Amino acid sequence: MIKKTKIRLFVNIKLKEGEEVCLSEAQSHYLSNVMRVRQGDEISCFNGCDGEFAAEILVVHKKQTQIGIRNKIKQFKNSPDVWLVFAPLKKDCTDFLVQKSTELGVSGLLPIITQNTNTDKVKTERLQAQALEASEQCERLDVPQVFSPQDFKQVIENWDSSRRLLFMDERGAGMSVAEALSKCDAQKVAILVGPEGGFSDSEFNMLYKLPFVCGVSLGPRILRAETAAVAALSVWQAIAGDWKEKNR
Ligand code: SAM
Repeated sequence: MIKKTKIRLFVNIKLKEGEEVCLSEAQSHYLSNVMRVRQGDEISCFNGCDGEFAAEILVVHKKQTQIGIRNKIKQFKNSPDVWLVFAPLKKDCTDFLVQKSTELGVSGLLPIITQNTNTDKVKTERLQAQALEASEQCERLDVPQVFSPQDFKQVIENWDSSRRLLFMDERGAGMSVAEALSKCDAQKVAILVGPEGGFSDSEFNMLYKLPFVCGVSLGPRILRAETAAVAALSVWQAIAGDWKEKNR
């Protein structure tokens, strides 16, 4: 028997048992034309703050599919507070980085424009839609926020110093990632990853002068930026995040 794909949809409304919801055109198209749902089928919905609810397909329509909200099936739970501050990469690599960091539980995504950043054209809305889609797939109950891109100096000068900035330093001057992350337990952190061409000398020097910055090494090999982001987030989740909890 082929297991039917579980359909989870993010709906940006207050979720309450008994409510009837008219889905967006894009979601209606997805359900009716792509997933070919039928009246009476069950899906689930979440809105990023009320938890997850079972829902029933009431009317299948290519533009205005209707669903009925049924019982709550999961209590809301925030992902841990870890940000990824990243220099925008080539389109596919940025897409990969947003999708994987969402699956890895990132709570905020901040594109930073550094001296060697290849592109300053960041389609924030597009990246936010990708983060939302990845949240639906990986069964998160919240959706990471994608911030508008900021210039390197602007980020550093306006940084909230209560959030530790873990700077992925491929030159090896940082401490080992396990040591750095073990010092961050229960702290708000951000992981900073540079562009394909790395940080400039002046950016390195500026970063190491800052009291809230901790240089971190991810080993002896030079990783692609998207690999470094995934590696650092994975280690953080294992040592200081929600991979420590029994949650499945
Ligand atoms: N400067 C690098 C070079 O010599 O080719 C290019 C930068 S690397 C492709 C992109 C980013 O990934 C770096 O800025 C750094 O943040 C991170 N990174 C890559 N390898 C790393 C490592 N071994 N340790 C820490 N961070 C690393």
